[in-house]
Amino acid sequence: MLPFDFIEQMRSYLGDELDAFLKALQSERETSVRVNTKAPFDALHVLHKAGLEEVPWCPEGYYVRHRPQFTLDPMMHAGCYYVQEPSSMFLSEVLDQLVPHDSVVLDLCAAPGGKSTLISEHLVAGGLLISNEVVRQRVFVLSENVQKWGNGNVVVTHNQPRDFGDKLENLFDCVLVDAPCSGEGMFRKDGGAVDEWSLKNVEMCAARQKDILRHVWPALKPGGLLIYSTCTYNEHENEENVAFVCDELGAEVMPVEYEESWGITAGKAGLHFYPHKVRGEGFYICVLRKHDASFVPFRAKGDKERQQGQEAYSDMRSWLCTPDKWFIRQNERFADAYPIEHKDLIAYLSKHFICVSTGFGIGEQRGRFMAPQHSLSMLKDFRREAFPQVSLTEEQALSYLRSEALTLSNLPFGTLLVTYNDVPLGFVKNVGNHSNNLYPNEWRIRRL
Ligand code: SAM
Repeated sequence: MLPFDFIEQMRSYLGDELDAFLKALQSERETSVRVNTKAPFDALHVLHKAGLEEVPWCPEGYYVRHRPQFTLDPMMHAGCYYVQEPSSMFLSEVLDQLVPHDSVVLDLCAAPGGKSTLISEHLVAGGLLISNEVVRQRVFVLSENVQKWGNGNVVVTHNQPRDFGDKLENLFDCVLVDAPCSGEGMFRKDGGAVDEWSLKNVEMCAARQKDILRHVWPALKPGGLLIYSTCTYNEHENEENVAFVCDELGAEVMPVEYEESWGITAGKAGLHFYPHKVRGEGFYICVLRKHDASFVPFRAKGDKERQQGQEAYSDMRSWLCTPDKWFIRQNERFADAYPIEHKDLIAYLSKHFICVSTGFGIGEQRGRFMAPQHSLSMLKDFRREAFPQVSLTEEQALSYLRSEALTLSNLPFGTLLVTYNDVPLGFVKNVGNHSNNLYPNEWRIRRL
């Protein structure tokens, strides 16, 4: 049952529309996915069978008519699509309108990574995303999701908002704060959010959001954009925090265009998504531009990456389609790689932040040899011809994703790439009578 105070609050915002809103909360929520360019669209058989319809504000977004059991689709585990709530995909429209593709962006509250995978796609031509999550148990799934997406242009960190404000002053072209909130917009999806809701909790969330905004603010460049979003309707967590940023931190609200037929509602500032008007859950988004002032741009001084000649890594470079795009760094056993144009900034981050993953893991020293890391197989720039390939059936693919041993006959010894439906799933090591499964144990499917 919905709390009385919540209904009264919504009455004050919606007036005559309240009944339609309450009715919408009783209806089935939409299922939707955002597809990756990793696999040809036609190859997403499970999705096509379920029935797809375009999400109007996101070219890669699709409503799925009959929700399939996503866990049983190896293509999802290979990062070919991400199950994401439709309203939040409006971020795609915001980025297209306002954020250049070579920007340096911070996604401050990023787990499980729906918006980070979307931003990483937007930045694929020269940008860099720092994707941060403060809650330790949630940061690993974030790292898994961005690695599976496969652009290699994301550094996943596990830090407090104030670390960014303190150590990266004037660095970011854009900061997304998709704030922890009272979750009103998720009432249809998550009964727990209803039980936890109270006016007091709304107040507490609004105060926490203000702290987050205040702490991260110095990291945004003057002239840079703050994208603030929540999945709530109330003004305390939305418009009042936007007013706080404008008045006390110094910013102005930017217009964002949208088509009337999409059903979006312009608030006092920012845009509201109400489930009786859009095909999606409750959501709020507002873009603010930090006032210009004379400022010293951030420079990662003294943190130049110690230049190990990249020629030393010829084995690993041969695993990449465009090796010159990447900077390879080996720390004792493991080597990772990331966009070469951001190597000094990444060297700085590695020293001053808790980096959970940096670009993608490319290799692991095993004695005199270098073995590939799993994350390489997820990368779109992976040159898969570098390894012998084995195509798996659906049953074998699910078995592989459960980390079970595979019996594969008549294959060369050594490291092999396994694929499903022509998409890489990961590596195995063929030792003759069986193959060792090299799928990351912490990513394995536990329930089927
Ligand atoms: N952006 C994510 C996505 O699209 O997948 C969803 C983010 S969720 C709305 C908010 C996130 O903020 C959660 O992952 C939560 O752990 C994190 N969070 C909680 N308290 C926080 C705090 N004090 N500062 C920063 N982030 C916090």
